[in-house]
Amino acid sequence: MLTVQEITRALHAIGLAEGMSVVVHSSLSSLGLVEGGADAVIDALLDAIGEAGTLVLPTFTFPPDPVFDPRTTRSSTGLIPETFRKRAGVRRSLHPTHSVAACGLLAEHFISGHPGATALGMDSPLHRLALAEGCVLLLGVQHTSNAMVHVGEAIARVPYLDLPYSDAFSVSIPVRLPAGGEVIVPPKENPGCSVNFNVVEEPLKRRGAITYGKVGDADSQLMRATDIIDVVGELVSINPAALLCDIEWCPFCPRARKLVEL
Ligand SMILES: [Zn+2]
Repeated sequence: MLTVQEITRALHAIGLAEGMSVVVHSSLSSLGLVEGGADAVIDALLDAIGEAGTLVLPTFTFPPDPVFDPRTTRSSTGLIPETFRKRAGVRRSLHPTHSVAACGLLAEHFISGHPGATALGMDSPLHRLALAEGCVLLLGVQHTSNAMVHVGEAIARVPYLDLPYSDAFSVSIPVRLPAGGEVIVPPKENPGCSVNFNVVEEPLKRRGAITYGKVGDADSQLMRATDIIDVVGELVSINPAALLCDIEWCPFCPRARKLVEL
C-alpha cells in the first residue's frame, strides 16, 4: 500500500516543488493501492507544493447539469477532484461545464471571474495558471486528459473555437451563486474533442519540456503550462487540423474539419 509520504517523495522526484502552482489531471486507480485513497493523494500533492503553492484540479461536468451548483454538482473528472472539491478551504470556480477547484496562495486569483470568461480559453483559471508560470501534472493519464491543450487552441484562435462539442454544450446554463441568486453563463469557446491530444507529446519531449516519472504504479509527466501552449501554437500554425481526431463518428472533429477547410 502506498503511503502519503511515499507519494510526496515520488512527486518531488518528478519535479513538483515548494511554491509551485499546478493543475493535476489524474486517475486514482492508476497509482495502485493507496492507503487513505483519494484524500492521501491530495494530502501528498499539498505537502509537495507547500503553503506557498496552489493546487488546481479540474471539476468539469459532462454532460452539464440543467443548473450548476458549485456545492452539489458532481464533477466527472474522477475521484481525486470529486474528493478535493468537498474539502474545507477549497474554492470552486463558477463555470457550468469547466469549473476547477483550487486551494492555496493564488486560488482566488485563478478562479475569480470564470463566469464572464471562456471555459478554458483567454482569462480562464487554467490560462491564469499558465500566466503565473504554473505547471501541468499528468498523474497516470495521458495528454488526452490535458486540458491545457484546449487553452493552447483558444490562444492560437483555431477556426473551430466557437463550435459547440454537442447540443448539450450550446445552451446557456444557470449557475447558482454561493451568496444566493443565479447568473446565466452563455457558452463561450467551449472546448471540442481531445482524442488526438497525444500529438503534443513528441514536440514537448523534443524541447526537453517533460519530466517523466512514476508515482506508485502511475506513469506520470510534469511540464510547464506555457510550453504546452507554445507547442499547440506551433502545431496548428503548420496544420490547423493537427489536434482533431480521425474518428468518423466523433461528434466534433468532422464538423470542425469543415471549418478548417473553409
Ligand atoms: Zn474527435
